[in-house]
Amino acid sequence: MNLNGVNNFITINFNKFKMITDVELTKNGRNKNQLIIEINKNYETSIILDYDARLEDGILFLVDNNLKKINKNRLNSIESGILNLISINISQNLINKITKRKTYYISPPIPLIGHTAFGLIDRGTNIIQVRGLSGCNINCPFCSVDEGQYSKTRKNDYYVDLDYLVDEYKKIVEFKGNKHLEAHLDGQGEPSLYYPLPDLVQKLNEINSKGNGIVTMQSNGTKLSYKLIDELEEAGLHRINLSINALNEKMSRILSGSRDYNINHILDIAEYIKNSKIHLLIAPLLLPNINDEEFKKVIDYAVQLERKNPQNIINPITNKKNPIIGAQLCLTYQFGRRIKKMKVWNFKKFYELLKHYENEYKKNGIDVQLDTPLSKAFGNHRRKKLFSPFKLNEIVKAEVVLDGRVNNEVIGVAKDRVIQIINVNKNYEKIVGKIVKVRILRTKDNIFVGALV
Ligand code: SF4
Repeated sequence: MNLNGVNNFITINFNKFKMITDVELTKNGRNKNQLIIEINKNYETSIILDYDARLEDGILFLVDNNLKKINKNRLNSIESGILNLISINISQNLINKITKRKTYYISPPIPLIGHTAFGLIDRGTNIIQVRGLSGCNINCPFCSVDEGQYSKTRKNDYYVDLDYLVDEYKKIVEFKGNKHLEAHLDGQGEPSLYYPLPDLVQKLNEINSKGNGIVTMQSNGTKLSYKLIDELEEAGLHRINLSINALNEKMSRILSGSRDYNINHILDIAEYIKNSKIHLLIAPLLLPNINDEEFKKVIDYAVQLERKNPQNIINPITNKKNPIIGAQLCLTYQFGRRIKKMKVWNFKKFYELLKHYENEYKKNGIDVQLDTPLSKAFGNHRRKKLFSPFKLNEIVKAEVVLDGRVNNEVIGVAKDRVIQIINVNKNYEKIVGKIVKVRILRTKDNIFVGALV
């Protein structure tokens, strides 16, 4: 082929691959051609090319004169060799551009049930938690899972292949019965970072809507845009639980742990959602002794916004309107972060405060259902629960397949479940692919933790 007067011996069109969202050709430190491949917007990997090359509109042209002497069959094998190298690098050397952590691309045969960092969680209700990725773009100083770029404990991230996630979701739906189910996108990170999010929502909604169910998600709001909201609305998203912990610019930035956090963007997005077919639930978190006043201001803001832009979206599970506020209390967790000056409250004290606010609003003729538990307001109910293949303290044989989320952990697979294997004092590389004996220490909700025996 001759393009612009240059002989192109091999052409690879990256536009054909849905997961490749950008490609860049640069020189590395040794002046070799380096191809940087962006995967699903937030991840990247790279390969070194041993040939002269050019990149135009996502199409790679190898233009090296040495290729002239090579016969057609070998040229084809060079092309498939490059594609193989990319595929190996996606599975072994993928980096999360936001958290800068190594990321495992999860696809078959790694099961999606068993871990809290990725996959699907069934806690025996009508809600199925869908966790397409781990990793967050902000660094809240109270984060219960120590997420964000400056995390001291999180070592690896995970991203689940879209089709695989949906296929496995369908299996759980078949088991539980497709009636009044809620697919809830949450996780150890920011769900809106999942790409392509509208496709995921649409596919889940196609399933759930057949049984009068819904798809909902949590978000810190920072990555939401008008365009994304339009696409999510089109995809059938029912509700966004939007975290807002302070209205004051300085305080909200401190509570996000991120210099780029812009509360005005979040409020703008909140208003945009209010004008869409997606129900907006504002979810402020009370950090006692830290944001007490701001917490109340966020509740006032949510009430005013509802008065200005009332939404009348009916939840098909309850046949009622959803609440507009989902107030939460900040708790402390073993592996989470904590603000030193924060006081620890119990739920009794928290609900008393909410009751007090509720009564204040009632005096002004406003009913905000602040003290109604969200689970009740959303129509959560018990449903058939997935079978647990392991018993507590049972010793099982598991194959080590992935490095763990934190240091001294690996991920094992047995009986179609993943097991978080803790207290591993060996390098992951040394035991990957090996069968190990594990004592099961946790089985609740089909989330499995075990220790090497
Ligand atoms: S937005 Fe959520 S996941 Fe991200 S740092 Fe804050 S609390 Fe953690």
